[in-house]
Amino acid sequence: MPRPDGRAADQLRTIRFERGFTDVAEGSVLVSFGRTRVLCTASVVEGVPAWMAGKGRGWMTAEYAMLPSSTSPRKERDGTRGKTDGRSVEIQRLIGRALRSAADLRALGERTVAVDCDVLQADGGTRCASITGAWVALADAAARLVAGGRIPATFLTGSVAAVSVGIIDGEPRLDLPYAEDSRAEVDFNVVATGDGRLVEVQGTAERGAFSRAQHDALLELALSGCARLTEMQAAALR
Ligand code: UDP
Repeated sequence: MPRPDGRAADQLRTIRFERGFTDVAEGSVLVSFGRTRVLCTASVVEGVPAWMAGKGRGWMTAEYAMLPSSTSPRKERDGTRGKTDGRSVEIQRLIGRALRSAADLRALGERTVAVDCDVLQADGGTRCASITGAWVALADAAARLVAGGRIPATFLTGSVAAVSVGIIDGEPRLDLPYAEDSRAEVDFNVVATGDGRLVEVQGTAERGAFSRAQHDALLELALSGCARLTEMQAAALR
């Protein structure tokens, strides 16, 4: 069975980064992984939470939400009935961990970088698009801090990117849209650094179980996808 969008098994969707998408936040990037589109902003606020004040270090947090009309049927806005979607909480913690792995919080000084990822359109892989786009927004925010003389050099120590992979009809495939994600036998979300090391691997058998060999094949595929995303992030920043 060919893929629903005709791609090769090891091919990414069309990836785009639109920098400066909005102009209030220090970094603002609209990232597209095919039909999945996420607005990623990085806003810099002076000061840190009280529990970390006086240590000379900064902090970085992330929030994630799907906008109501990002999917059909319409999804109720997070918090509308006083409840936060558990899935959003899980995803925003993943995004925060991934981005902090690429930052030196000492170099940030006592400042907080708030990363906000708002899904405009959800077609699978929204957490991976969020991490990949948010890193570009962070690079822009860091450059603005340096240009404004607020820090001497960037607080980023490297880059991070993320991609989903899965097994569909027995075949390992890269960067799943919803049509594949929803029927995958195995489903991984992989975060990697620009120099090819792993930051987080979320891997689940949705039906039955998977072998060590399948695990290794999926990781290989994801790392090759992240390597290509790393090149695209760098190209977007040039
Ligand atoms: N999805 C949705 N409504 C929800 C949760 C998920 O429409 O409340 C869809 C959406 O297309 C999303 C996909 O299911 O991208 C896969 O969701 P998952 O939780 O695996 O996260 P993602 O792959 O987006 O990181």
